[in-house]
Order: sequence, then C-alpha cells, then structure tokens
Amino acid sequence: MMRRVRTLLGVTAACAVLAAPVAAAQEKQPTARGTGGAAASVDPLATRAAIDVLRKGGNAFDAAIAAASVLGVVEPYSSGVGGGGYMTIREGSSGRIVTLDSRETSPKAMTPNSFFIDGQPPTDAQFPINRYSGLSTGVPGTPALWEYVLRRYGTYSLAKALSYGERVAEHGFTVDQTFFDQTTPNVPYFADVPSTAAIYLDPDGTPRDVGSTIRNPDLAKTYRLIARKGVERGFYRGPLAAAIVAAADNPPLAPTATHTWRKGLMTKSDLSVYRVRRRVPVHIDYHGYEVWGMPPSSSGGTTSLEALNILQHSTPPASRIQTLYRYLEASRLAYADRNAYLGDPAFVRNPLAGLLSGGYAAQRAALIGATAPQGPVAAGEPAATVPAGDAASVDRVGSTTHLSVADRSGNVVAYTFTIEQTGGNGIVVPGYGFLLNNELTDFDTASTTAPNRAEGHKRPRSSIAPTIVTRRKQPFMTVGSPGGASIITTVLQILVDRIDLHMTLPDAIAAPRASQRNSATTEAEPAFQSAPEGQQLISTYKEAYRLPAGNEIGAATGIEFRRGKSRRRGPSFVAVAEPKRRGGGAAAVVTPGR
Ligand code: GLU
Repeated sequence: MMRRVRTLLGVTAACAVLAAPVAAAQEKQPTARGTGGAAASVDPLATRAAIDVLRKGGNAFDAAIAAASVLGVVEPYSSGVGGGGYMTIREGSSGRIVTLDSRETSPKAMTPNSFFIDGQPPTDAQFPINRYSGLSTGVPGTPALWEYVLRRYGTYSLAKALSYGERVAEHGFTVDQTFFDQTTPNVPYFADVPSTAAIYLDPDGTPRDVGSTIRNPDLAKTYRLIARKGVERGFYRGPLAAAIVAAADNPPLAPTATHTWRKGLMTKSDLSVYRVRRRVPVHIDYHGYEVWGMPPSSSGGTTSLEALNILQHSTPPASRIQTLYRYLEASRLAYADRNAYLGDPAFVRNPLAGLLSGGYAAQRAALIGATAPQGPVAAGEPAATVPAGDAASVDRVGSTTHLSVADRSGNVVAYTFTIEQTGGNGIVVPGYGFLLNNELTDFDTASTTAPNRAEGHKRPRSSIAPTIVTRRKQPFMTVGSPGGASIITTVLQILVDRIDLHMTLPDAIAAPRASQRNSATTEAEPAFQSAPEGQQLISTYKEAYRLPAGNEIGAATGIEFRRGKSRRRGPSFVAVAEPKRRGGGAAAVVTPGR
C-alpha cells in the first residue's frame, strides 16, 4: 500500500493556518515525545492543526475542535458534520472526567420494524439496501458537540476553530492510496447520487486518482454558515436542516441510478430537538490506575471496563500467554452481557453498577476455563431487577476516526467520531458538501425485542470507547480507536498490553491484535496468528481464529503522560498513532524533546 500522503495545497503566507511548509505537512510520524501539548490522529493535517492551536495558546478543547474540523474534510468517509460521536474529557482545572454523547438520534417516526424488507427482518446480505438509504440516517450530533465543547471548555470561537477545516476544504487535499481504496467499493452507489459523485468520483465515474486534489467549497461554505449563525440556527434549523431532511427523505438520485434507495423518516422537528448529552463516565480502579470510559448509549466503556474487571478478579496469570488468553475470554464474557443488557439509557435500564461490580467480575472470571469455549457463552445476571434482553446484536466493522489531544494544563480530550460505514449512507447533502451518516443501522434492525431495537428518538448502541486512565487522579494515558464492534477489544488489548504486560504505548498500539466478541472464532490479524503466541493459544487453549475483513483491526491513537520536572514546563507527553494500519497516522507535540 502506498504511503498515505496528505498535502495542503495553495498555502499562502496570509493563510497562516498550518503555515509550515507543505513538505513538513507530508511527514507522518507515528510517535512524538516532548512537552507543551500533544496530539495524535490518522491525518497529518489534522494533527498539525491541533498543534498549531496549542502553540498559539489555545487549550486542548480548542485544538480538538480545530483538528476535528480538518478531519471532517480529509476523512470525509469516516467523520464530519453529517455524523456523531463520543468524547471523554479531563478538565485540567478540577481533574474531573466528563463524557459527552453526541450520538446520532433516530427520527420520531422510527419503529422496531422500520428496517424490515418486504415485512421480513433484513438479512446480512441485505445490509446495503438499508445502509445506502435515507432510512439509515440519524440526526447528526457532531456540530452540536463542537459548539458545546467550545462554549463550555474552550477559549476559541466556533468560527476560529472551524477556520482550520474551512481552509483545507477550500484549498483541497491530495488523494492518497488509502482514500482511493476507501472510495472503490462505494463507486456503484456514489454514482447514483450526483452531489456525491461530483466531489468523490472523476467524470468517468471512477474514484478520484491517487495524487489528484479534492476541493470542497460547499463544505467550506457550510463551516462558514455554522460559524456565522451558530449550530442552532445554522445547522439544526433553517435551510441546511431542510436540505438534510430533503436528502434523507427523498434521496437526490440521478435519473440513471441503478439502485433503489429507501426513503427516510426524518422531519425538521427531529433536527430541532437534538441535544448533546453530558453523562457520568463509567469507571473502575484497575491495578492502581483509575480507568474512565464512555457509558451508554455507547457500550464501549462499560464492556471494556467489565472485561478489565474480570481480568482483575481472575487468578493472576503466570505467563504472557495466559494473560492474552484471559484477555480474549474476559472479552467474550463481557460481550455476552453487552448484547443482552446495553442500549440507549433513555429506553433501557442499563445495569451498570452490577456489570462493573467486583463481585460480579469474580463470578464471571470463574467461568474462564482451561480451554476456550467453541461458541458463544450466555449473558450473566448482574442485577436481578433488570431482565436480560434478546441477545441479538450488531457486530459490524465500519469506519470512524479517533483523535487524542492534551495540553500542558492537564486538559485531555479523547474523541471518537464517525458516520458509521466508510462513506456513510453515500449521500452528500446537495449544496453543503458533507456525507450523511448511516448510523441507524447500528440498531439491531432485525429484532423487535432486543434492548438495541430501533425506536423513535433513540440513539443506536455504539461500541465507541474513548478512554482516559489516571493514576492518583493525574493523567496517565488516553486511548481510543475506530473499528465498530472491535473498538472495545482494541482499546482493551492496548490497556492490557500497556498496564499488565508493561509494553510501551507505541509498542502496545503497534502490536498485532486479536478480537473475541463472543463467537466461535476469534478474529486475529495475520501477524497475531503467525506469532508464537498465536500458535500457543491454538495448541494450549484451543482458541480458533479467522481473519477479519481487510486483515486489520482498529486504527488507534493515544497519549501517555509523564509528570514534568518543573511546574513551569508542565508534563511531558508521548503522542502515538498507528505506524502502519490505515496507512499510518500522525503524532506530534508542541516542543519536541525526549
Ligand atoms: N458505528 C460504529 C459504532 O458506533 C462506529 C463505526 C465503526 O468504527 O465501525 O460502534
């Protein structure tokens, strides 16, 4: 695969943002060490935007929103204002950890059988019919989150933060091999929608070539509109809201369209009632660390923390291989509970205290046997008052992006945001330059009884898991990843590798991954399977493997913190992105050092 290269075109002296030479913007460094502040993302332009803000005196929240606005341009298939996400933050001034839920929300008119096809629950093979449709689009939460974060925690105006993304949209970015490969499977559907094809396909209907430039003046205009009017008037009401409703309810197809696109159920009032939810984080103490995660509507924090707690309550492993085996099996058990119990807290009584209690972890740990079960295990009973639901669940891998930012004042941002599948629902809102999400296919669309069934004004259960770890209340590390249902195991494996197996954070992020999600076989990257550990897991523990689609699991970023020598210099950071997965990411610090 070609090295992923993104360059900002047409940088002028007046265009001070990302003002370093284009050559510097091309550099992709997966690990950076130093002081003053740190950022890591999948894209060098986004990381550079964050560092630019920090260098100019903005805080981690300003930097995160500036970088997110760039990701919305250069990672349009994985993020942007047409989608949603989750943010875990640490406020430097108080040390408090807060989680913010900007998950997309279904239209009021949605019912458990809205995704049925010809009166029947959809099959896996029918997924594209629901995905590429207006029906799969939830009310976006991303613009609301960006404004909320800046108002509450930032020092930048929305206009100032969005100017970073606006300029990249205006000047363009260069298509690399990863982007080309992401476009390819979408071509037959993008070709049906002129507003999408105009940006992401060449006139002959093929993906934009590697090395060509994609400019998106419509998206730049959208950023300016939101900046000028604020998200309430600029996005959730008015002409832009009307355009979203029109695009979802009557997909804007070419007369030559070759697929049938189902119509959505969205109304303007669904948009106007959208709110970011501030939630109490889930939390456990783990081997002397405090681990903080995202509560429902995401299952990410609860499930990864339940698995950690199970590990903590099993007999201390005598070897590295035992640790890995228990990691896989703890994850299997936690997944069984995830599927049976978790969903949007406005609809589902999530037994969080039960699932995360020490007693329950010990009960679950006792179920880890000498060899791996050759199929799914049953959910446990964490709290007698909450009946387990139908354990139907979505276990699909889509695309998302994770951004890690920290400043010298102890503010930390872990932000995972998404439009669900790579390319979302395939519809660029005409005139506004952004893709809509297909997040509502994260509901258990084939079940009318599962806790995560489709319902009106509900948030589909996510696996997103932006995580912050503290030690004696001081930041120790932060991590997160894309990868749909495998996000949970990616975050969990990195935590186990770092905390239990004492790897460095760069090594933990680069390490080959395996992901057990309560199924007969464990997904494992080829490098994991061929390593001696993989072989030993098969021979000793009867762990069976299969390859994941695309052979990669996740694309994490993270930051580790070391207490600084002097208060004036603040902490030192190790910022980390993937060295290889998804073409490699970009990490940077304000002042490089050791
Ligand atoms: N829709 C997924 C979730 O919320 C994220 C997309 C992905 O990375 O697959 O869990």
